[in-house]
Amino acid sequence: MHRCEIITVGTELLLGEILNTNLQFLSQRLAETGIAVERHCTVGDNPARLREAFLSALDRGDIVLLTGGLGPTADDITKEVVCEALELPLVLDELQLSRIEDFFRTRGLAMSESNRKQALVPEGCQVLYNGNGTAPGCWIAKGDKRVALLPGPPGELRPMFQEQLKPLLMPFSSGVILSHYLRTIGIGESRMADLAQDYLDLANPTIAPYAKQGEAFLRVCAAAATEEEAEALCKPIIKKLKEILGFYAYSVDKELEAAVIDCLVEAKKTVAIAESCTGGGIAAKLTQAPGASAVFGWGVVSYSNDCKRALLDVPAYVLERYGAVSAECAFSMAEGIKKRSGADIGLAVTGIAGPGSDGTAKPVGLIYLAATDGETTLEERIETGRGDRGYNRDYATKQALNLLRKLLAKRTEAN
Ligand code: ATP
Ligand code: MG
Repeated sequence: MHRCEIITVGTELLLGEILNTNLQFLSQRLAETGIAVERHCTVGDNPARLREAFLSALDRGDIVLLTGGLGPTADDITKEVVCEALELPLVLDELQLSRIEDFFRTRGLAMSESNRKQALVPEGCQVLYNGNGTAPGCWIAKGDKRVALLPGPPGELRPMFQEQLKPLLMPFSSGVILSHYLRTIGIGESRMADLAQDYLDLANPTIAPYAKQGEAFLRVCAAAATEEEAEALCKPIIKKLKEILGFYAYSVDKELEAAVIDCLVEAKKTVAIAESCTGGGIAAKLTQAPGASAVFGWGVVSYSNDCKRALLDVPAYVLERYGAVSAECAFSMAEGIKKRSGADIGLAVTGIAGPGSDGTAKPVGLIYLAATDGETTLEERIETGRGDRGYNRDYATKQALNLLRKLLAKRTEAN
């Protein structure tokens, strides 16, 4: 088993100015590739500390990946520090030099002397050409150790990894590690874990529960020599888990909005949406998924009572007697948007997102949802018990999409 460590370089990472997405990207890709990442380290643009971090990583591991600090400026030190530590001289790579010259020529930009520095590469290394920037990456072999230098900008690093570095890493792979996510909604993480209990001790695939923003997932993770073998290990287990979780399980890997679009397409139904407290969030979510236009055409953000009356025909007496945050209002909104749009289904949400109350005795985090196809109407009252505006809006959005799923499945309750 080969041991790999990743060093991300950049003072802005230490200051928390940028999120270390390169680390996540590389860790995920290496896991899929079957290379065990044993340690992460982040250092600033400081030669002494980078040298120390690099030498100790190289001492422990077989493969060290470094990202960042390959640019032309004085704070870009990674290549120099690594070469010095490995006692490798830097030599001019003619092909790289002509690529940099072309890069500037085609963009009509003047090339500075410091850009020439980027054509210097460690002697004997394999150059990883950068199709999206000027800094080349390097793959260095030193004895039985391997070192990769990768640029910091994610738009440069990602394609370079996928197209050039991954094939070089494959010989070090001890097989593939493949994960699928069985996604659920409407059930808490602990209840989901209870239902799946008999499977949580499996060795391969391993099954691990985790929760994310109102949804609970089961990660099914298999290790095998090939992707096909790993898939074959996952498949029967996912099938069993789906049976156990029933309607709560809405997809394998797919986002909720994409799964809902699939349901609409399958049922050959269109939906129109009237939103109050989510402020267009449901429409935004739904249209994130490709193919949304086939099933969704109308959305109204009816934040005021005026708008609810004028565009959704919510009767004045409903607003006066029950208020804008009520089951009656949610139903009227759903019915109104359905009639106005001519869609098969009207979906509506109204609630108090917080953090403050709406001046009535109703609690913050109170949300009413309604969905109707003219024949069946489903209504839901939710009390999140939280004053967190972002959470309440996000929660309402997801539950509204799930209500749509329930209506399409003609079920009044999950399971
Ligand atoms: P450049 O040629 O742009 O200077 P570089 O290889 O020298 O590239 P850095 O100077 O370290 O890379 O970083 C350039 C930019 O790339 C950063 O400002 C940041 O936006 C992004 N970046 C660097 N490291 C990371 C990281 N670990 N995760 C996400 N983004 C990063
Ligand atoms: Mg830089």
